Amino acid sequence: MVLQVRGIVLPEREERSFWIDGDRLRTEPVPDADVVVEGGWLLPGLVDVHTHPGTEVHDAPFSDEMLRLHLTDHRDAGVLLVRTPGSAARIPDWVDEDPQLPRVRSAGRWLATPGRFFPGLGRDVSEEDLVHAAVEEAKASSGWCKVIADWRHDEPALPRDILSAVVQAVHAIGGRVAAHCQTADGSLNAVRAGVDSLEHGMHLDPGLIDQMASQDTAFVPTLSAFGAGADRRRAEEPSARRDWWLAGWEAMLPNVRAAHEAGVTVLAGTDRFPCGTVTSEVEWLVRAGLSAEAALGAASWSARSWLGLPGLVDGGPATLSPMTRTRRSTARLWPTRAASSCGAESSPDTRRRLSALRRSRIDVCRSRTVVKRGHQPATTAARTGVRLRSGIPAQAGPTAQEPASRCPRTDRRQS
Ligand SMILES: [Zn+2]
Repeated sequence: MVLQVRGIVLPEREERSFWIDGDRLRTEPVPDADVVVEGGWLLPGLVDVHTHPGTEVHDAPFSDEMLRLHLTDHRDAGVLLVRTPGSAARIPDWVDEDPQLPRVRSAGRWLATPGRFFPGLGRDVSEEDLVHAAVEEAKASSGWCKVIADWRHDEPALPRDILSAVVQAVHAIGGRVAAHCQTADGSLNAVRAGVDSLEHGMHLDPGLIDQMASQDTAFVPTLSAFGAGADRRRAEEPSARRDWWLAGWEAMLPNVRAAHEAGVTVLAGTDRFPCGTVTSEVEWLVRAGLSAEAALGAASWSARSWLGLPGLVDGGPATLSPMTRTRRSTARLWPTRAASSCGAESSPDTRRRLSALRRSRIDVCRSRTVVKRGHQPATTAARTGVRLRSGIPAQAGPTAQEPASRCPRTDRRQS
């Protein structure tokens, strides 16, 4: 059955109809198509550019079952494309072949040099072998590799010359390099080395932002993951690490805003569980000072373009997230960029828009219609009642109010 959708396409703001034939969008009308969306806004399927499906805790094995559950959570929340900047195992081929799952752009296994990650969680390599391993992971995955460029605040970051050699070698095969950075030295080395994406960027020196803009280093701040732990940090007894963390966190929102205003591509990544919460990252980006439209683009069309995929065009992928209009005027729902100066968006307006997106009942994923009925993502542990290998009972584990963070950069090592 050919499906038909009609609405106002973002970011172009043009009313269009598409017919979904197979996994492609078509603009040529098809008689007797099944109209599944009529009116409202049409935006390219949501994107989470920083998520680690497949395992939730660092001492549990990666499993196909967990991977499927996590990707299903993303899909049911309208997240139809994900980038996995590091995982405990390479993403298996069956994910690409399953039309009911989001598309995945993988960076292979985390690349960790001694002392800079959880031993055994990613691919442990010596500094001497890092270049070779990075090229290998990029070739085996979607062209990306992910390097842990720093770890503890009181230990040295990965030397810049090694990271530069990684970038040079991976770029030579047409690949891209994502760098985990949460210390000033880590971000300095990563930006100077010319990585393609700065993940987290806590303690980023604002003086590096212009270079990021000029060399197209994207910024994936994962604010929702940091924000989830901020109150707990503040409640801790004062210590050098606590103060270091909080100082880094306080600077993150201004840095994100400055980066956006300087022309850096800022993108939405959650780095947390449950999967399927990218709209909360959009809210954080708005809080940082992006316009609502720029923040939503960071989780939709801008992210797709950055990953080399088109938006809603003839011949493009049939993945889209319709959003129904509210009773308010459409002009107020999505003010133009000029009308919504950075940071001037009121939070009630933003919350209403995002709430409308969450209430969306239909997402089209690879030509399949996915009907959502008040989907509430939950951690796999909470959903299945299983006990994690760490021995923590599921009911005592992460909750939707305080999600786990996959990338161990914020809480588990740096606290
Ligand atoms: Zn991460």
